[in-house]
Amino acid sequence: MMTHILYFYIGSCIASFVYYLSYSIINKSFSWKARSFCDHCQHKLYFWQLFPLFSYLLLKGHCYFCCRKISVNHFYFELFGGLCSLFFFLLTAFSFFNLILLLIFLFMTFMDILDQWVPDFLQLSFLTLGLLYNYSYNIIPFQCFLIFCLISFLLIRTEQSWMGGADLKFICISLLFIPLGSIPYFLFLAASLGLLYCYLSKSKIIPFIPFLIFSFITSYVLT
Ligand SMILES: [Zn+2]
Repeated sequence: MMTHILYFYIGSCIASFVYYLSYSIINKSFSWKARSFCDHCQHKLYFWQLFPLFSYLLLKGHCYFCCRKISVNHFYFELFGGLCSLFFFLLTAFSFFNLILLLIFLFMTFMDILDQWVPDFLQLSFLTLGLLYNYSYNIIPFQCFLIFCLISFLLIRTEQSWMGGADLKFICISLLFIPLGSIPYFLFLAASLGLLYCYLSKSKIIPFIPFLIFSFITSYVLT
C-alpha cells in the first residue's frame, strides 16, 4: 500500500512541476522562484503550501493571503499525474528510465492540452530514450527506423492537416519501443479513443498526443 501511495505522489509532484513548466513556456514567464509565490498577490508561500494536492485541499482552492481563487487546473493536473504514475509503475517496473519517460509523457500531454503543440526538445528526449531502449532490446533494425523517419518527414512536409507533425514524430519514435507486430494495435487504440473523444466532445481539433501516450503505455507494457 505504501508503494502505491509513493507511486501516486511521485506522479503528482512531477505533474505539479511539469504543469508550471508548461504554463511558463506557453506564457514565456519562466522563473525558478515563481512557483513559491501566489499568482495574484505575489506573497511568498509557506513550505506547507507547496505540497501538490494537499495544499489545494487544505486551502480549499483559495490563496491563504489574498483569498483569491487558485486555478482548479492545478489540482486536476496533479491528480491526473498521480493516477498516470500509479498506473504506469504498477504495470512496468519503477526505474530511473521509466521515471524520465513518465516525465516526458506528462510534459507532452500538458503542452498538447494547454497549447496544442509539443516542443521539439521533448521529442528529442523521447528519441534519445528510444535509441537507448532499442540498443538494449533490438526492437527494430536501425535501417528500418531511418526509413520510417524519412517517410514521416515527407508526410510532415506535405502539411496534411489530418494529423499534426508532433503526432507523426511521436508515432515514428514509438517504433523504437513497440515491436512492428503491435503497431496496428497501438495505432488502432489511439485512433479509436481520439474518434470517441471527437464524437463525445463534438470538437474537430483534439489534442491527440494524450491518446497516443495512453495507447503507447498499454502497448509498451504488453510487449
Ligand atoms: Zn494571493
